[in-house]
Amino acid sequence: MIRPAIILVDMLNDFVTGTLGVKRAEAIIVPLQQLVCVAHKNGVPVIFSNDAHYPLDSEVTQKWGPHAMKGTYGAEVILELAPDLAKDFVVEKHTYSGFYETGLDLLLRDLYNGEGAKTGIFGGLYTHLCVRHTVADAFFRGYHIVVASDGTEAFTAKHQKQGLEDLKNVYGAKILTVKDIIEKLSV
Ligand code: ZN
Repeated sequence: MIRPAIILVDMLNDFVTGTLGVKRAEAIIVPLQQLVCVAHKNGVPVIFSNDAHYPLDSEVTQKWGPHAMKGTYGAEVILELAPDLAKDFVVEKHTYSGFYETGLDLLLRDLYNGEGAKTGIFGGLYTHLCVRHTVADAFFRGYHIVVASDGTEAFTAKHQKQGLEDLKNVYGAKILTVKDIIEKLSV
C-alpha cells in the first residue's frame, strides 16, 4: 500500500449506541482498535471523519432528524476508539461525505511530508451511507481505496453485503479483513 492513511467514518456514540445506533456496529470496535494500534506503531496517520451537525444541515432537516449534533455526547467518538489528539486527526463533516466542504483532502495531501497520502483505508459506519459517499469522493480524487470488511458495518447483513459489493464494483475498492490490512501495514 502506497502512503496509507486510516480514515474512520462516524465511529460516534450516536451511531453505535445512540439515535442511529444498531447492535451490529459493536462488532467492529475491537477490529478497529487493533487497526488503530498497528497504525500508531507503524507511523500510519489515523483520521476520524465525524458528523458534527448543525440543526439546519440538510441531513437533519430533510432526512434523519437530529443525530451527532455538534458539541453533544452523541457526536463524540466512542470511548473505545477515542482519538489520541497528540497524533490523530479529527475532521468534522456536515454531510455523508468526509470530503464535501471539509479539510480532509488538504490534510491527506499534506501528509507524508507533503507527498500526500495515496491509499485511504476505510472503516466505520455505515458502509452503504457515509462510508460509501466518502469512498466515492476519495475515488473521484484519485486515491487508492481499501475497505475493511470487518471494520465497517451497515443497518442489516444485506446492507453490509451489498454495500461492500458496491464499493468494490463501483469504486474499485479492495475489500480486506482488518487482519490482512494489519499484515500489509506491518511489512
Ligand atoms: Zn449525519
